Amino acid sequence: MSEEKKIRMFTISTCSHCKAAKRFLREHGVEFEFTDVDLLPRDEKRNILKEVEKYNPRRSYPTILIGDTVIVGFKEERIKAALELDKTGAATAAGEASEQEDADITRFYEALKKAQEAKGYFFNKDKGRTFELLKALLVNKERYGYMACPCRLAVKDRERDKDIICPCVYREPDVAEFGSCYCNLYVSKEWNENAAPHAYVPERRPPEKTRGDT
Ligand code: SF4
Repeated sequence: MSEEKKIRMFTISTCSHCKAAKRFLREHGVEFEFTDVDLLPRDEKRNILKEVEKYNPRRSYPTILIGDTVIVGFKEERIKAALELDKTGAATAAGEASEQEDADITRFYEALKKAQEAKGYFFNKDKGRTFELLKALLVNKERYGYMACPCRLAVKDRERDKDIICPCVYREPDVAEFGSCYCNLYVSKEWNENAAPHAYVPERRPPEKTRGDT
């Protein structure tokens, strides 16, 4: 890195893209500050959301500030360019979870795999990433009472969050257009076989639903 730039990230604690961004910076020895917005007390959350909105009106995560540059989503090449990082030692987005690690997750994985493949939706073949996301879904089930999307800010109100209960209503159009859902948990067969580009999936949820401030 040619010069020190202050790095600040707004993240969701369960979000795989946010975890990948943190991992990437740590693996490059880059110091950063982050705020897990979903873990903040209500008043603090409201203030931080106003700040996030200034940089990213859609309030999607991670929202990354590198000096004056705002990067929405874990976009490795843009982060490298902003930090002028060497290409050596690049991080991968692979998760750290092992499929042996947790029998409950394995059972959960197998049950969902069967049901969702029958509908034409496949788990990301990166099992580390997939298991990380499945664990996050179970964390959210415990926190909210339902499996809110790990990569979005839920408000603990089933009615208001119903569009982001996994599988969210955005999965179908995202997989049709990009070959992957927003979190990269569910993908098309072609995406898994690298026969479709692995493009960044932009947030499709309308901004008025991403407020998360109550
Ligand atoms: S299907 Fe929707 S809710 Fe489930 S992980 Fe993917 S983006 Fe999140």
